[in-house]
Amino acid sequence: MHPVYDVAIIGAGAVGTAVARELSRYHLKIILLEAKADVGMGTTKANTAIWHTGFDAKPGTLEARLLRRSYALMEKFVPEAGIPTEPLGGLLVAWTEDQYHTLPSLLERAHTNGVTDVRIISAEDVYRLEPRLNAGAWGGLFVPGESLLCPFTLPLAFATQAVINGAELRLNFRVQGIALEDGITRIVSEDGQTVAARYLVNAAGLYSDEIDRMLGHHDFTVTPRRGELIVYDKFARTLINHIILPVPTPITKGVLISPTVYGNILLGPTAEDLDDKTNTATSRQGLEMLLEKGRAILPDLMKEEVTATYAGLRAATEHKDYQIRLHAGQRYVCAGGIRSTGVSAAMGIADYIGGLLSEAGLELRPKDNFLPVHMPNIGQAAPRPYQQPERIAQNPDYGRIVCHCEKVSLGEILDAIHAPIPARTLDGLRRRTRAMQGRCQGFNCQAHIVDILARETGQDPRVLLALEKFPADPADDGGQS
Ligand SMILES: Cc1cc2nc3c(=O)[nH]c(=O)nc-3n(C[C@H](O)[C@H](O)[C@H](O)COP(=O)(O)OP(=O)(O)OC[C@H]3O[C@@H](n4cnc5c(N)ncnc54)[C@H](O)[C@@H]3O)c2cc1C
Repeated sequence: MHPVYDVAIIGAGAVGTAVARELSRYHLKIILLEAKADVGMGTTKANTAIWHTGFDAKPGTLEARLLRRSYALMEKFVPEAGIPTEPLGGLLVAWTEDQYHTLPSLLERAHTNGVTDVRIISAEDVYRLEPRLNAGAWGGLFVPGESLLCPFTLPLAFATQAVINGAELRLNFRVQGIALEDGITRIVSEDGQTVAARYLVNAAGLYSDEIDRMLGHHDFTVTPRRGELIVYDKFARTLINHIILPVPTPITKGVLISPTVYGNILLGPTAEDLDDKTNTATSRQGLEMLLEKGRAILPDLMKEEVTATYAGLRAATEHKDYQIRLHAGQRYVCAGGIRSTGVSAAMGIADYIGGLLSEAGLELRPKDNFLPVHMPNIGQAAPRPYQQPERIAQNPDYGRIVCHCEKVSLGEILDAIHAPIPARTLDGLRRRTRAMQGRCQGFNCQAHIVDILARETGQDPRVLLALEKFPADPADDGGQS
């Protein structure tokens, strides 16, 4: 006899894992179902990694509201859980007279959205803050609250906290069919496994429309909007001090230049509607467009070396807002169309969905002992294990460097393999430790890491390498360096 879960959540991206974490604070039997072999492998792993304030969101939208709610929740969670972050602030630069004249309306919008510390600054101040920018700026908008964030650690932290508080994580479970019988939702996977639950949350990202249709709804269609990015080497990091934002358009937030929490510089993203939800390839045309924009904003960046390129797919829809709906009769919440801001808004979305489920009758009885989570640091702003002599004295594996580009120690790799949500693939290790993500992209350390992973997990090293070259899902080879 299979158990009936109180809540099943489809999709372990930023949104699904945040919902699982939120619900795991209550006395509930929860299951998180994910098609891929790990959490955070969809759009959540391939974005620009900015923790947005929501200053430029359209006032009155659910997106604007949930971004603000999320910001407050994340301010508490991010330091508690040890998520790598850097509060650099965003500098939106007006490069033309027309753009300069839009700054007051952007300021007004920010204030309407409750982001009141935003201010317009002069061209002189722009260059005082960012002396290496190209000539020709008319002025700017300074947004102190925009920050960098690690998009790999965040969903792992949400999922880990959910799991250590009793939620079940079922990986490699691709939902193919859903049936409602006598108040119970039966969810069937591609390979014939069945899960039964009283309430259902759809957080399937690019596929949220297809899951929604399985429940008989036709409220929106996801069109994958590809964003390509270029990652520059760490030597480029000193070129800028802030997140350099463009003036946004109705279609896109535009091409930005931003540091990452790992000490690289990102240039991107593009915005291009596709019809293939697995196409995370980069394109010559996209990269050339980025280089042109990058040259116009920060000419010195063009002298720096490129470490990697990647692309992510936004779950854009025909609507200009998140598609979050409660279908109370079906005890079903759809969280689809979470386009460009879902990493930042995930905690606000989870909080909102908790409220919707409660409205539909789910009893939320808080646990007395909701266990905290603390994640290993892979950012450059806080000390890493190789920089902590006391940790190395306790466990010399933290002093044994395996990946020299990113200074990843054997101790960190072993921790990731034996974590509550363990790394089982090279990609899983990359996102948990930064190993193989640096300048040489694993040329020097990959063989050693394959050996360690094979030894610790009993997997065949040839299978681990084959999975790298030929992932089961073609979209799995995208990812941020
Ligand atoms: C180029 C780019 C830049 C961006 N920049 C930022 C930024 O700077 N800041 C920010 O906050 N946001 C940013 N975003 C947006 C952000 O990345 C997304 O909004 C967010 O990751 C969406 O999370 P999600 O959980 O909804 O989707 P996903 O991360 O895609 O997760 C959905 C999950 O559902 C699973 N799934 C799908 N179908 C099934 C099924 N049938 N059965 C089981 N599981 C299934 C998938 O495998 C996946 O793991 C950016 C996006 C892009 C593309």
